[in-house]
Amino acid sequence: MRTIRVFVFMALVPLFSSCIILHSTAPRGGSAPPWRETVEIEEAAVPGAHEQLHAVLWVQASVEYDAVCRTAYSRARAALDAALADPKWTAALEQREANALPGKPAVIMDLDETVLDNSPYQAQLVLEGKPFDDPSWKRWVLRGEARGVPGALDFIRYAESKGVTVCYVSNRDAETPGDRDSPQERSTRRNLEALGVSLSAEEDTILLKNELQDWGSDKGTRRTLVARSYRILLLVGDDLGDFMSGIRTDPEDRAAKASEHAGLWGRGWIMLPNPMYGSWERVLTGPETRLTPSEALKRKTGRLRGMDKPR
Ligand SMILES: [Mg+2]
Repeated sequence: MRTIRVFVFMALVPLFSSCIILHSTAPRGGSAPPWRETVEIEEAAVPGAHEQLHAVLWVQASVEYDAVCRTAYSRARAALDAALADPKWTAALEQREANALPGKPAVIMDLDETVLDNSPYQAQLVLEGKPFDDPSWKRWVLRGEARGVPGALDFIRYAESKGVTVCYVSNRDAETPGDRDSPQERSTRRNLEALGVSLSAEEDTILLKNELQDWGSDKGTRRTLVARSYRILLLVGDDLGDFMSGIRTDPEDRAAKASEHAGLWGRGWIMLPNPMYGSWERVLTGPETRLTPSEALKRKTGRLRGMDKPR
């Protein structure tokens, strides 16, 4: 879900101007966990370039990004083969307690920054010096012009060649509960088909947020639905929320939850890199959703651990 994402543009603040003054507000005695510690940063010490610049350039202009994606999808193929060979295997926590698993195999894939590369939208924000907002994001989605994430399309074709159904669980927004053929679904379908993805005519395999009443940002209800009909071999995504529920908490809680299931990474859970946005970034600023850009940037900068800050 991208509605509460805040990207920050601080064009008028000089780059690393003036000295940085840090005051830890954690109680003395070290009782607060690290994520609760806030560090007051002087406004003038906040970096001045668009917050997205390096992240977007890494995605668009580095061979390293391309290689990391292809490595992840290469691993996904091997994991798919292993999962197919073990009829008791499931990658979905929602399916772990099931007495019997369905016979038909499926993989669940996220779309944005997993299959579809939206870096042109992110780059446009940098070029125009604008923050993310829902209307501009929706306009981009409706264009249906995203390219494929490196390795994703070959992996989809490989899975389908093995008789595996690919279900796309995305937080692109259907906007009206009950609308299974929303404008964003239609443009997404058109985008995928233009990239060479074949979509079933009989079954709706694109499950967007708000298509049904209880399909919120948390993808658990949609994974549960898929789990009723399919054995879920793999989950593929770029955000912790693509793998488990209840992750919009705080960095420490997320780390504990991820580590509880660490054995699944690379086996049933395949993570793609996304340095541009995600729940990882949203939880850094705390639960408030209506921070000013400068307040959000201040809070994020306060999360940095400098040389004198033990991790
Ligand atoms: Mg995504």
